[in-house]
Amino acid sequence: MRVSYTPDYFVPLPEKHPFPMGKFPALQRMLLDEGLIGESDIVAPRQADWADLLLVHERGYLDALARGTLTKKEERKMGLPWSEALVKRSRHAVQGTMNAAYMALEDGIAANLAGGTHHAFPGHGEGFCVLNDVAVAIRALKRSRWIRRAMVIDLDVHQGNGTAAIFESDDDVFTLSIHGEKNYPFRKVDSTVDIGLPDGTGDDAYMAILQSTVTRALEVFPCDLLIYLAGVDVLKGDRFGRLDLSRDGLHRRDRFLLEEVMGRQIPLLCLLSGGYAESPELTADLHATTHREAARLILPLA
Ligand SMILES: [Zn+2]
Repeated sequence: MRVSYTPDYFVPLPEKHPFPMGKFPALQRMLLDEGLIGESDIVAPRQADWADLLLVHERGYLDALARGTLTKKEERKMGLPWSEALVKRSRHAVQGTMNAAYMALEDGIAANLAGGTHHAFPGHGEGFCVLNDVAVAIRALKRSRWIRRAMVIDLDVHQGNGTAAIFESDDDVFTLSIHGEKNYPFRKVDSTVDIGLPDGTGDDAYMAILQSTVTRALEVFPCDLLIYLAGVDVLKGDRFGRLDLSRDGLHRRDRFLLEEVMGRQIPLLCLLSGGYAESPELTADLHATTHREAARLILPLA
């Protein structure tokens, strides 16, 4: 599987910052070490153009990012300290998602080893999300007529409020979010379909709801591209999630999603979104689940 990745996805953060920035290089190393990708599968993105970012984001917000003139309040809401490197990293990640979307259309499946920053709104960032890569990619692909209709399946434990807001009145984009009802963001924005789950849902109840919801969505909304936000903060013990999925449950989730989408020949783009395990390495290991399950489908063992 081809993936977008660049060492520029990593920028140093202050010590004890809760965002596990180290998960990006750790995941890339892990996928190479396990033979799930080869060096030739890695496509390094450049920084997304400001013109493409303007397809989604407000000029005033982009200016403030470029010049470093966000207010303290805006920076606090974003959850990441502004730096030139952070803005570059965010632009690289957006382009990584755009590139991987084109690769998914060509190859059937592709991934960005970053992205899924679903809390970013047109005019502000929040919840560790600076720019909305999913929305920029969909708008760019629609503009160039590569796709007409897209579906976003967001299984991060936090509701995809930014993405939902951006596509609120766009009938060509179906947004589906399955998340913890009591989790951040405390004010949700309506997706096309939202399923808010109680704390401690666990594997079996989660899988039952996932299967019925996704199958129904795919039946009612034929699409040209499916973007999967495979957040691993649904796992038991995650610092910010409370749904209590086991590792086996995480495998079941990804296996079901991949089989269901690929079985219908819908081009599939996989993105990371959140994950807050004990260490960046463990978080990366959880993110690798999607790739391990994809490898099983793409290269079935003889
Ligand atoms: Zn999350």
